[in-house]
Amino acid sequence: QLRNLFCSLLPSPMPSPSLRLAVVGAGAAGLAAARELRREGHAPVVFERAAAVGGTWLYASPAPAAATDPLGAAATHSSLYASLRTNLPREVMGFLDFPFTAARGSVVDARRFPGHEEVLRYLEDFAQRFDLYRLVRFQTEVVGVRREAGGRWAVTSRKLGEKGEQDEEVYDAVVVCNGHYSEPRVASIPENLYFPTLTGADAWPGKQMHSHNYRVPEPFLDQVVIVIGASASAVDISRDIACVAKEVHIADRSTPTSTCEQQPEYDNMWLHSMIDHAQGDGTVVFRDGSSIKADVIMHCTGYLYDFPFLGDDSTITVDDNCVDPLYKHVFPIEVAPELSFIGLPWKVIPFPLFELQSKWVAGILSGRIKLPSKDEMMEDVKAIYSRLETRGWPKRYTHNFSGGYQFEYNDWLAEQCGHPPIEEWRKLMYAANAKNKAARPERYRDEWDDDGLVALANEDFKKYF
Ligand code: FAD
Repeated sequence: QLRNLFCSLLPSPMPSPSLRLAVVGAGAAGLAAARELRREGHAPVVFERAAAVGGTWLYASPAPAAATDPLGAAATHSSLYASLRTNLPREVMGFLDFPFTAARGSVVDARRFPGHEEVLRYLEDFAQRFDLYRLVRFQTEVVGVRREAGGRWAVTSRKLGEKGEQDEEVYDAVVVCNGHYSEPRVASIPENLYFPTLTGADAWPGKQMHSHNYRVPEPFLDQVVIVIGASASAVDISRDIACVAKEVHIADRSTPTSTCEQQPEYDNMWLHSMIDHAQGDGTVVFRDGSSIKADVIMHCTGYLYDFPFLGDDSTITVDDNCVDPLYKHVFPIEVAPELSFIGLPWKVIPFPLFELQSKWVAGILSGRIKLPSKDEMMEDVKAIYSRLETRGWPKRYTHNFSGGYQFEYNDWLAEQCGHPPIEEWRKLMYAANAKNKAARPERYRDEWDDDGLVALANEDFKKYF
């Protein structure tokens, strides 16, 4: 570990010719990518359709699509709700060499699990500290990425605003960091078959919306709300709404069919398995046999990978939320390394993973780190699919890194880059947080038992100040 740390502190060997690179997105992944690419000696240009950095962490209130399209099929805004606090402790969540500590000068919300505004401030600090703002072209949307003869990429971008001018430029490589929490996953899930139409005499007459468009609980005052899903958003939003709603019913397909349980600490919230069917008179019948006349169904059913600017020459397809074929979830094998994706894995600690993926991509682009042959990369992809099969996981879990895999993956990336492995305290703290969350679902953000790990982390962070 010491040797790796020492190596990582040494100046990189002279990089091969600096490449001109297009980075799509200035969220956490795009910022990490921009920093690492430039550290490697490249010249990144970051395209960002918003007017600011931060991506997901740019709170949009009210949700721009909510009025016209509550299911949010055409929405491109962030998915944050007003009450959102991080679900990871700040020590775990931050970039590896830019700790998300409460000791930074710009800190306003020093809580260990801060509100979303604090994460945005942290990302702004990151962009400032590493002088990334001048690399970003704001309000500029990438609308096309086309492979040219010779392996370079023509990137078409559109300046958002009155004139909407388009521009085409050629780059040596493209790094896609466009996020995957803004294209709601609704129509493709089986439970939505019970709501085949949103209009017509037989249609369920209530309101349906996706969590993407949820912001505040007040509109649900005295209503009966069904929340579909068991994700972090479903847990947060059901509790948020329960403070004002008449009743909240959570429908979670992973619970046993007979489940109909009042939730501890709530007299107006129940957990069910899944919805069986809905009726034209507004009744929703659960598989446990109970039924309720509901006003709203909130779909906390996740999001889809979406790359509308990529064509067939990207050589990837997206089917059932699997981006295929990708070597190590980053490189499309046929066009590696000139096209890459940062940030696809989920059920991870995002920022450190973005950082390591970005270091790896930067090193490969400069030729300092070598990719294996196409055949070897394909073998590796096949191994991912057979691991999926062994676990009995559906295809849509291809990029799901739960079960400890993220650390194996991160440490592999770190080794490739000559970077120290993920800190032991971070791994232990991640596990401690998961355990605490399960034991204290209502209070894990304010009560914990891992102060010893916090002290270790803070000690470790001293080397970065
Ligand atoms: P994004 O943040 O989505 O950024 C993508 C950027 O690309 C955006 O700025 C977008 O405008 C831009 N873009 C997209 N397409 C184009 C285009 N064609 N042209 C130009 N620009 C484009 N993570 C945690 O670590 N802790 C948490 O507590 C946590 N809570 C979360 C809660 C919610 C509700 C959600 C949705 C996510 C949460 N996450 C959390 C995960 C979070 O998404 C990641 O932390 C991270 O912010 C994702 O960064 P990203 O850069 O990959 O994507």
